[in-house]
Amino acid sequence: MSRVFVGLGSNLHQPARQLQRAFGELAEIPGTSLEARSSLYVSQPMGPADQPDYLNAVARLETVLEPLALLDRLQAIETLHQRRRERHWGPRTLDLDLLLYDDLVMDSPRLRIPHPGMGERDFVLEPLLEIGGDIEIPGRGRAADLLAQCRVRTARRIDE
Ligand code: ATP
Ligand code: CA
Ligand code: CA
Repeated sequence: MSRVFVGLGSNLHQPARQLQRAFGELAEIPGTSLEARSSLYVSQPMGPADQPDYLNAVARLETVLEPLALLDRLQAIETLHQRRRERHWGPRTLDLDLLLYDDLVMDSPRLRIPHPGMGERDFVLEPLLEIGGDIEIPGRGRAADLLAQCRVRTARRIDE
């Protein structure tokens, strides 16, 4: 079994419901269990500013799936949510990023682990710290140190 962290994001069509549904769908992936889910966090959009605020969260999974097989499952869930790819970093119903897979470091055209942007994003690091503790991000450093170095900090936890 491998321990995996997945980042969830949404800013369209009732983002909170999109994320709640997605947690359930992650739990249903074959060979995979949902071990923990963070609170939801609201943050200002990265990139184009003319779009709604985002809701983000992180899930911790245990899985027997290999990284690319898991990515296939994550992308299938995005498709279930009618994710459309329009502009780069544009609004979306659901984004699922494979953040960490054990201590693996990989760099293939379809999949880079650790996820390249995660170390600079408060909306990833805050929920990751909540459920993962101050874990080491291979090649990058500890989550809390990376968060302290984030230049943009807008993420706020929502009390559910
Ligand atoms: P960002 O990756 O900067 O957060 P994004 O989430 O908007 O931006 P997408 O359009 O969702 O980017 O994904 C583009 C491609 O990134 C996907 O088709 C996928 O193959 C690739 N990719 C590479 N590494 C990963 C990863 N760790 N998790 C998810 N997708 C990845
Ligand atoms: Ca993303
Ligand atoms: Ca993505």
